Amino acid sequence: MGPVMCDPRSLIEGLNPQQEEAVKYYGQALLIGAGAGSGKTRVLTRRIAWLLAHGFWASSILAITFTNKAAAEMRERLVTLVGPEAEHMWISTFHSACVRILRRDGKEIGLKSGFSIYDTADSERLVKLIAADLNIDTKRYTPRMLLGKISDCKNALVSWKDQLKKANCDYTPGQRGYQVSAGDVDELVAVVYAEYQHRLALANAVDFDDLIMRTVELLQTCPQVSEYYRHRFRYIFVDEYQDTNHAQYVLVRELSGIDSDEQPDPQARGAGRVGPSWITVVGDSDQSIYAFRGADIRNIQDFEQDFPNAKTIMLEQNYRSTQTILDAANAVIAKNENRKPKKLWTALGQGDKIVGYAADNAQQEAGWIANEIARIHTEEDVAYRDIAIMYRANAQSRSLEEAMINANLPYQLVGGTKFYERREVKDAIAYLQAIVNPADNVNVRRILNVPKRGLGARAEGLVAGYADAHGLTFFESIEHMDQIEGMTGRTTKPLGAFRDLMHELADFAKEHDSKPSEVVAEVLDKSGLLEELQRSEDPQDASRVDNLSQLQSVAAEFEQNTPDATLAGFLETTALVADSDQLPGEGEDSGKVTMMTLHTAKGLEYPYVFLTGMEQGTFPHQRAMEDTSELSEERRLAYVGITRAKRRLYVTRAAVRAQWGQANDMMPSQFLDEIPDELIDWKRREAGVERMRASWGDDDEFGGWDDDDDFGSTSFGGSMYGSSTYGSSSYGSGSRGSHPTYGSSHGSHSSYGSGRSSYGSGSRRFSGGSHSGSSSYGSYGSSRSSYGSGKPSGKSGKVTTRRAKPKDLTKSAPASSLDGNNGLSISDFQIGDRITHDHYGLGKVIETQDKGANSVITVDFGTDGVKRLLLRVAPIEKL
Ligand code: ATP
Ligand code: MG
Repeated sequence: MGPVMCDPRSLIEGLNPQQEEAVKYYGQALLIGAGAGSGKTRVLTRRIAWLLAHGFWASSILAITFTNKAAAEMRERLVTLVGPEAEHMWISTFHSACVRILRRDGKEIGLKSGFSIYDTADSERLVKLIAADLNIDTKRYTPRMLLGKISDCKNALVSWKDQLKKANCDYTPGQRGYQVSAGDVDELVAVVYAEYQHRLALANAVDFDDLIMRTVELLQTCPQVSEYYRHRFRYIFVDEYQDTNHAQYVLVRELSGIDSDEQPDPQARGAGRVGPSWITVVGDSDQSIYAFRGADIRNIQDFEQDFPNAKTIMLEQNYRSTQTILDAANAVIAKNENRKPKKLWTALGQGDKIVGYAADNAQQEAGWIANEIARIHTEEDVAYRDIAIMYRANAQSRSLEEAMINANLPYQLVGGTKFYERREVKDAIAYLQAIVNPADNVNVRRILNVPKRGLGARAEGLVAGYADAHGLTFFESIEHMDQIEGMTGRTTKPLGAFRDLMHELADFAKEHDSKPSEVVAEVLDKSGLLEELQRSEDPQDASRVDNLSQLQSVAAEFEQNTPDATLAGFLETTALVADSDQLPGEGEDSGKVTMMTLHTAKGLEYPYVFLTGMEQGTFPHQRAMEDTSELSEERRLAYVGITRAKRRLYVTRAAVRAQWGQANDMMPSQFLDEIPDELIDWKRREAGVERMRASWGDDDEFGGWDDDDDFGSTSFGGSMYGSSTYGSSSYGSGSRGSHPTYGSSHGSHSSYGSGRSSYGSGSRRFSGGSHSGSSSYGSYGSSRSSYGSGKPSGKSGKVTTRRAKPKDLTKSAPASSLDGNNGLSISDFQIGDRITHDHYGLGKVIETQDKGANSVITVDFGTDGVKRLLLRVAPIEKL
C-alpha cells in the first residue's frame, strides 16, 4: 500500500467556502456541525480523499460510520475519488472496528482467538440459565429486561465490579446458592451482570456491547496496544457523532491518544507519527435519535471542551431539499427547547408543496400511497428507486407492504425483517399451523418451547426419537409420552401441559373456525407468547407486541373480506403474502420503492418521501405523549424524516388505526400542526369519519363535501374494518348529503373521565395501567369505555377500545371518542385566557390553532403539565 496520487483540486470543486474550509482544515480536532443535507457526509468523504491525495497513507485512516451500508457507500465514493487504494482503508461501524481490534489483540485481556460473539438470542439464553440458577423470578424480571440493564451499564462503561459495589453487594461470580434479597433490583442486576460476564468469559464469548466496552478496556489497560493503534490511526473520522454513546466516546478518545502525554513532533507534516491523532467528527444534534441506546447528545455539544483547540465549522447551505421541505423541517425542529438555532437555506427553490392526505384507516392510507406511487411513476416519470416510504414502527409496514403487493409495485424493505418473517409472527403462525395440522412437525417443534416452558433439546430429542422409532408424528409421540423412556417428571409435566394447551386451542379453533381473529387472540393469550413480550422492558419487544397486534388485525380484516372465512383459509393467505414478499429480494440494484423505519433512514436521501402514520400515539410514539424529553427525541426523528426528502414530501395519516383487531381513533400528529399550513397541499384534509363526527354537533348541513374527494375509489373500498367500513357503507350506499342516523354515538363524550386511558391505548393496554390517563390525549378517549362490545384481550381487564364489529355496523355505528361537540369555538379563546378542565383543573391557554372542527387548544395546567386538547371534545369551561 502506498500513497495515492490524484489532483487534490478536483476534490474541492463545487464545494462552498465552508465545505472547502472543512475539507482542507489543517489541525488536530475538527467538528463539522450542521443541519441535515448540508453535505457533512460528503465533506467527510472529501476530507479523507484530500488527505490521501496529499500522500497520507490509507492505512493511517480510521473512518467510523453508523451502519455497514453507510460504510460501503463511503468506501465506494472514495474508490471513485482516489482509486482502489481506498479499498484497504478501515471504514466501518464502531462494532466492526472493535471486532478487528479484539481479534488481533483481545488475548491481552483474556480473549482467546476465535472468541464467539453472542447475538441477543444467545445472550438471552445465557441470562435465562443464570436466572434459573439464582432462583430469579423471570416472569417478574425477564431475561430481556435484565439484559437491557446490563446493556445500559455497558454503554455507560460501568463494569460488573462497579455495579456490585454500587449495589453494595459481595457476590463472587461462580458462587453457588447465593440469595438475592427480594425486591432489590440493583442487587439483582449487579449479581446477574457479574455472573453473566463470568460465564461469557468461560465460554470465550463477548456480546454486542462488550465489543466496545472490552476494546476500551484493552486500550486502557495495555499501553503497548493503545500505543500501537495510536501510531497506526493518525486520522480518525466519525460520522453521525451525535448518536455516539459514552462507551463509543471514550473509545474515540482512547484511540486518538488525546489523554496520553506523548508530545506531537513539531516538524511533522499533518498528524505526524507521535502525539494525539487528528480527529474529525461530523454530526447534527438535531438528528440525535438513539437516546434509548445510550446516545449522549452532550458528546457533540461538548466537543470543543473535550478536544483542546478544536475547530467548529458550520455548514449552512442545504443541497438536498427544496425550500418548502426545509421550511417544514425548520419549523418542526424549532419547537424543541434548548437547541442552538441553525440557519439552513437552499438554492434549489421553493419546489412542490408538501402533499397531505388524511385516510380513514391504515389500509386506506396504504392504498392511497400505492395509488399515488403508481400515478407519479406513470404520469411524472418518477423512478421507483427514487421513492421511499417511512414509518415510525416496523409494525406499520404490514399494511403498506400489502398495498404495494396488491398494486403490483416493486418494493424492498430495508432493515427489519419482513412482517411474516418476523420471529414473533412466525411463532404465532406456527401455533395456528399446528392447530390446523398437528402432523406439521416443523411447526409443532418450533413452538414446543416457545414461549419457554422448560422443554429443551433433551425433551425434544426424546420425543423425536420415539416418533422416529414408532413411525408417529411428533405430536402423536407426545400423546404417547408415558411410554417414552428416559422421561422425568421435569419433562412430563410441561409436556403434558403443552399437549393439553394444544388440545384446548384446537377445540377453541373448531368452535370459532369462521373467526380467525378470535383464534389468533386465543392463541396469543393462552400460549403465553404475548405475556412474555409484555413483561419485557426492551423497546424491541414493545414493537414485537405491536406486530402481534397487527397479526390479529390481519385476521380481523380477512374475516371481514371473506364470506366463508376459515382458519385454514387465513393461513393460506398469509403463506401467499409471504411468498410474493420474497420476490423483490434485497440486493443492490433497486428499481424498487424503499420502505423503512425513520431510524433506518438516518443519513439517506430520496427525491420522493412518504412520511406515514402521522398521528398522535403513532408518531410521536405513545411513550412520548407524557414525557417532554421523549417528545423532543420524537421531534428530532420527525426532523430526520422530513429532511430525507429532496423534491417532494408526502405526509399521511389515518383517522383510525387498528391495534389488536380493534379500531382506535387517531388524532393528527402534532408534528403536522407544527408544519406551517401554507406549505401543505391537502389532497384530503379530514378523513370521512372525522367530517361526519364534526358535523354531528351542528344542525346545519354536512360540511366539506364539495372538494375533490375520492370516496368510493378502489383504495377506499378496500378498507376493512372499524369505522372505515362504516364510512364506506354509508358513503357508498348513496347517503351522501343525508344525515346518517347514528344518534346513539353522538354525545357519548358525556361519559368523560371514565375511560381516559383509551386513546391510542393499544400499545400500553397491557402495561398494568401505569400510564392510564396521564396522557394529554387520553382525554379524547373518554367515550370508549361506554362502548364495550369487545372482550379484553389483555390482563388489565378493562375494555377501553372498541372491537371492530363491521357486520353490526348497519345497525349501530360504533361510538367514537372524537364524535362529540361541546359547542366551543376556537375564536372565543385567546392566549392567556384562563379555563377550567374537568380533570386537570385550572389552566391557562398558551396556544390556539384554528383548524375548523379539529381546532386544538394548548393549555398549561401547571403541575399537570402542558396539554394539547381537541377543542370540540375537551371538557373545559372558559372562566
Ligand atoms: P445528513 O444530515 O442527512 O446526514 P449531510 O449533511 O451528511 O446530511 P450529505 O448527505 O453529505 O449531507 O449531502 C446531502 C446532499 O447534498 C447529497 O446528495 C450531496 O451529494 C449533496 N451535496 C452536498 N454538498 C454539495 C455541493 N457542494 N454541491 C452539490 N451537491 C452537494
Ligand atoms: Mg450525513
